[in-house]
Amino acid sequence: AREGAKLDARLGKSREMYGKAREHLCNGVASSYQLRDPWPIYVDHGQGAKLWDVDGNEYYDFHNGFGAMVQGHGNPIIGEAIAERFPKGTHFALPDEDDFVVADELTQRFGLPKWRFTNSGSEATMDAIRIARAYTHRDHIMKIFGSYHGHHDAVMVSIVGDYENIGDKNHLKKIPYGAGIPKSLVPLTVPVPFNDADALEARIREMETDDEAPACLIMEACLMNMSIVPPEPGYLEKVREITKRHGIVLIFDEVKTGLTIGPGGATKLFGVTPDMVTMAKALSGGLPMGAIGGTDEVMSVVESGEVYQVGTYSGNPLCVAAARANLEKVLTPEAYKHFDELNSYLMEGCTEVVKKYDFPGYSIGFGAKGCVTFSPHKIVDYVTFKQGQRTDVNQLCWLYAMNNGVFMTPGREEEWTLSVAHDKAACDAYIEAFARMAHDVTE
Ligand code: PLP
Repeated sequence: AREGAKLDARLGKSREMYGKAREHLCNGVASSYQLRDPWPIYVDHGQGAKLWDVDGNEYYDFHNGFGAMVQGHGNPIIGEAIAERFPKGTHFALPDEDDFVVADELTQRFGLPKWRFTNSGSEATMDAIRIARAYTHRDHIMKIFGSYHGHHDAVMVSIVGDYENIGDKNHLKKIPYGAGIPKSLVPLTVPVPFNDADALEARIREMETDDEAPACLIMEACLMNMSIVPPEPGYLEKVREITKRHGIVLIFDEVKTGLTIGPGGATKLFGVTPDMVTMAKALSGGLPMGAIGGTDEVMSVVESGEVYQVGTYSGNPLCVAAARANLEKVLTPEAYKHFDELNSYLMEGCTEVVKKYDFPGYSIGFGAKGCVTFSPHKIVDYVTFKQGQRTDVNQLCWLYAMNNGVFMTPGREEEWTLSVAHDKAACDAYIEAFARMAHDVTE
């Protein structure tokens, strides 16, 4: 309560804006993920690794727009690309050179030969699932318990599950995430536990017996929406082999991992190539753009015209120009070296705090992404994630960060994202805020 009151006291102008904003904007925000209790924080501007709210509070930004801003705010390379493109026209709904240059670059990085662009991660996963359904002539899809793949009906199932029912991790209750999702669609989405290839194969067999063979398995190769949960050694290889054997399209959702955890995302980092990948977030320097990559075989249903993969703004010139500059000039091998080194520094700093205060948790991360997982045991899937739930500590961690000049995403599911502009001073601020919290909680 003390830390909460401290934060509220510094957010007077945000409170005023909230009063005006909520007159005609639902909850005063453009997206429910921007809400904060008792009122949202309105931003003024960002520069490099920092952002300033309308009250003039300065923060190192580790939220980074839900992981999109690995380029840092106001990156001049992205700025130049947009400024050069703008006078030539911002929208035609026609292709230009930047489109195929970006597609070539993504092919080099992810090893998949055919690409299409979308406007967000949700659109990318929605279209990828449709392509997989068309390719296999099957309706059911599989996902991982607890995973998030965007806000469309097919994947808004079993994000938040029934964790009182954790006795049997293979049969958690399927719950649509929020109202408005047709009940009739829920049975088409079948979740399985992460890091358990046997459970996956058993469930596929059950589905085949019921004449409900799945079109695809959509998954993050390294979970990034339940803190960070890496694949156990050999798991992804088995998933690849099983899905291939059963004629199931394997989709790696790289919306968070692609371009952040390494130049070729989780696909290259863990060395298993899926049939499709979906991307967004870090792709376009903060402009709204997503992408779908696939094999020639799977994407043939787009090329033949069987699947309508469309969108007025898909391949928007500003977004694609920014993506090209981002891929060619910002996310260079040096940028990934910087992420790796700085992330190790930050994780080590947090690990020292954990040890010093004998605090329940451990640091984990790859490339630009990392977190402290507030759990005394290792998290390998949704059930172990829920069992280790320490929402109290997480909330405190967030409040201490915010009160000590470190902007973070609330919620234990989220992790920090570094940018090319972050440095040791930014990481020291994070470690210091974390240490203060650990000190106050344990002493
Ligand atoms: N897939 C994953 C793994 C995500 O984390 C998200 C968003 O957080 C999405 C898809 C949806 O992306 P968007 O919010 O751009 O629609």
